[in-house]
Amino acid sequence: MRREDLAALTAACAKCGTCRTVCTLYPERKAEIAVARGKVVLVEAAASGLDGDAEALQEALSDCLLCGRCERACPNQVAVEEIVMKGRGDLAEELGIPAWKQVVFGKVMPSAGGKEAARAAAAASQKLFLRKVPTESGLHYRFPSAFGQSGRTVPALSGESFLGSLPRGEAVRGEVLLFVGCVFDHVFPQVGRAAYETLRLSGKGIAVLRDAPCCGLPALVSGDRPSALRCVEENVRRLSEASPERIVFPCGSCLVMFRRNMLSLLPKEHPLYGDAVRVADRCEDYASFLLETGVLSRLPAPREGERPGRIGYHDPCHLSGTLGRGGEGREVLRRAVGDSFGEMKGADLCCGYGGTFNIRDYPTSAKIGQNKVSVAAEGGTAVIATACSGCILQMRDMAARTDPSLRVVHIAELVFQAFSSR
Ligand code: SF4
Ligand code: SF4
Repeated sequence: MRREDLAALTAACAKCGTCRTVCTLYPERKAEIAVARGKVVLVEAAASGLDGDAEALQEALSDCLLCGRCERACPNQVAVEEIVMKGRGDLAEELGIPAWKQVVFGKVMPSAGGKEAARAAAAASQKLFLRKVPTESGLHYRFPSAFGQSGRTVPALSGESFLGSLPRGEAVRGEVLLFVGCVFDHVFPQVGRAAYETLRLSGKGIAVLRDAPCCGLPALVSGDRPSALRCVEENVRRLSEASPERIVFPCGSCLVMFRRNMLSLLPKEHPLYGDAVRVADRCEDYASFLLETGVLSRLPAPREGERPGRIGYHDPCHLSGTLGRGGEGREVLRRAVGDSFGEMKGADLCCGYGGTFNIRDYPTSAKIGQNKVSVAAEGGTAVIATACSGCILQMRDMAARTDPSLRVVHIAELVFQAFSSR
């Protein structure tokens, strides 16, 4: 462990226990080790050389959704997410990274060709091995119980990615760059398309990076700093070359990687540090861009007749919590769907996805997620709209498991639909 770095971060903790009262995981684990205070104590012990069990510490730090609720509630502003991520990175260096993660984060995610090949292979194998489940929120495939996934459903992958569907020569240059993100390019290409078409309504030139690597967040939260750094360096180089005035993100998790985590990965003496700061300054969320450029003021008033309040907004932890951009998504919905939008019950409850937490402990992730969508549905929400790829993946799975009539969409899809139908 890099003791001095971590000791400086953990020193701020007063052991007050406020974090326990808000922790998403505590109600499931009922154990101090699950909450921020417990993790801080363990990291402090390891950083001072008192506890030598690196594997137990890795297990404790992996058991966290990185939802940030503890950090936001902490009276001492302890940087819990940074402590957990730094600890995971240090321990991965010490104990090694599993082979499958090395392939996914080191080979597939940093390469556009790697991602394309992985999507094609996944699309072919889900037809062969998984069972089709038609639901209101789109066709899904369900894992057979033999796969040990407790009925997990995944979206049916389409034949073509969003970027692959753009004609050559289109969206090559523009003062605004749409950073689509891996999931909205490959898994939900309709979201990539909706974001692209609605950004174009601003009248500004919209460009895309056709061969962008992943933002690097999945690698970073897994402790694989070298792969995360590779993604960051490549993105900073390409975005600096393209030099857009603004970079717009439909996914809150990609945005938090660029606005916050990217700079913690690059030391100040790194040759790309200055470029990275300039890139980070230009990054913004999809909803803020639409509101600032007045796109929605061109939308005719919504038709009457839909049940008021049936469409709700889910607060993605990274976008609403960490970056404080929850009001913008709601305002976009208000303008796009009128009084069909209503404040959703449990809007700020974490969906339980937590990046690799969903793979590490699917039953607990699903329990948290099923509670989330059930609370929303019981409160009268029929459509959950949001702006983060991980939340959409998770809540569609949860809806398919608990209430197949519940739809989960990106706000861009509703905006695009509103413009297309009026
Ligand atoms: S709320 Fe903050 S200061 Fe209090 S125990 Fe938790 S991490 Fe420490
Ligand atoms: S980030 Fe979330 S899950 Fe992790 S300790 Fe904090 S509140 Fe609990």
